[in-house]
Amino acid sequence: MIPSNNNLQSRDLEVLWHPCTQMKDHENLPLVPIRRGKGVWLEDYSGRRYLDAISSWWVNLFGHSNFQITQAIRRQLDRLQQVMLAGFTHESAVQLAERLVAMTPEGLCRCFLTDNGSSAVEVALKMSHHYWRNQGRPGKFRYICLEHGYHGETLGALAVSAVPLYRQAYTPLLMDALVAPSPEGSTREAGVTLEEHARLKFVEMEALLERHAAEVCAVIVEPLVQGAGGMRMYHPVYLQLLREACQRYQVHLIADEIAVGFGRTGTMFACEQAGISPDLMCLSKGLSGGYLPIAAVLTHEDMYQAFYDDYGKGTTFMHSHSYTGNSLACSAAVATLGLLQDHSFAGRLEQLETRMAQAAECFADHPHAGEVRQTGVIVAVEMVRDAQTREPYPVAERRGLAVYRYGLEHGVLLRPLGNVLYFMPPYVITPEQVGTMMETALRALHVATKE
Ligand SMILES: *Cc1c(COP(=O)(O)O)cnc(C)c1O
Repeated sequence: MIPSNNNLQSRDLEVLWHPCTQMKDHENLPLVPIRRGKGVWLEDYSGRRYLDAISSWWVNLFGHSNFQITQAIRRQLDRLQQVMLAGFTHESAVQLAERLVAMTPEGLCRCFLTDNGSSAVEVALKMSHHYWRNQGRPGKFRYICLEHGYHGETLGALAVSAVPLYRQAYTPLLMDALVAPSPEGSTREAGVTLEEHARLKFVEMEALLERHAAEVCAVIVEPLVQGAGGMRMYHPVYLQLLREACQRYQVHLIADEIAVGFGRTGTMFACEQAGISPDLMCLSKGLSGGYLPIAAVLTHEDMYQAFYDDYGKGTTFMHSHSYTGNSLACSAAVATLGLLQDHSFAGRLEQLETRMAQAAECFADHPHAGEVRQTGVIVAVEMVRDAQTREPYPVAERRGLAVYRYGLEHGVLLRPLGNVLYFMPPYVITPEQVGTMMETALRALHVATKE
């Protein structure tokens, strides 16, 4: 059967079940079959193109069909596709770990590989507790996370996520985490700076740490931008205060940079803007340039040494996935890191940040655009009933879905998070395409907020 939009849509709905999707929506929302991608463009079977404004769920950094990454995978493909990483090793895994150790913040010198973001979070959570257990403190097994935080959807990662949409149905299955108020600035009082707001919110985090330090093994946060919780942004001072307090209370700091790592916030890693180094750093999404699933957890020597002992002592870190360190994924990641470390990259990223700020000014006067915020090359716009009072739309009205539909009809892939319209395009987007993307989104906002 020759594939076409129509026949893939109907065959798909016979057999597939899609992620985070109410399948009934597809009774009147057509699936979008994609036959190829090039640069910022995705193309369907009728030749219709969509500008990928969200980097295909934030993973694509250098565009689809990137020459260097494709070549790297091809070369690897001819030699070795997969070998288990227990007892064996291979060049791409070693290169990847070397590069990550060299580019991540000071002190992170050990790299543990996994397959996706959620599993990286599981590793960080398990490693933290196991560290304290190996230190003779097995009573440290609880976690502190942030309101609006998101760390993935497997049970451990979900337990430290505080976005009701993802958690609700599974609450009885989840371990009990401590939730601190978010430092994000969208709800702050008029006249309060982002920094003052972050300092204010930190008071409660500090109180939780003080009260529960004996039973808490780690705090987990998304540095600077809380992604899936609505692209909520906060001041780096919060991370400095948190780093210092974690040290003081003997609690690990886990930085989940799965979404914000690799340039998204304007620096290679978001932690750099606070000048801090976490105890554990989770990376995935952009790591392979959006080609293949892979993730990494970086940690320091003290962590590593707490597990390093004679086998009989039972201190071994017990975690593995069949495809850990897959060589094709590692080769894609090595090529991606090469592109990120190219001498001209930082300059281009800065230009994109400026261009996005400039283009986002088009939302300034719209009666239904609330806060417009930006960190690095992430821009978010709140859709609100009234831009003055910031009164939000009820989520049930699904205004975001209307934006998504309008976007598709007009050649731009936008996928708002509830009422939050956002842009996180591949870094190869041109200044002109940034304009097209934002102008289309503005018209989408206009249509979605009529009546
Ligand atoms: C996407 C995401 C995850 C989960 O990664 P998956 O690969 O989807 O499992 C975890 N943390 C953050 C901050 C993310 O954005």
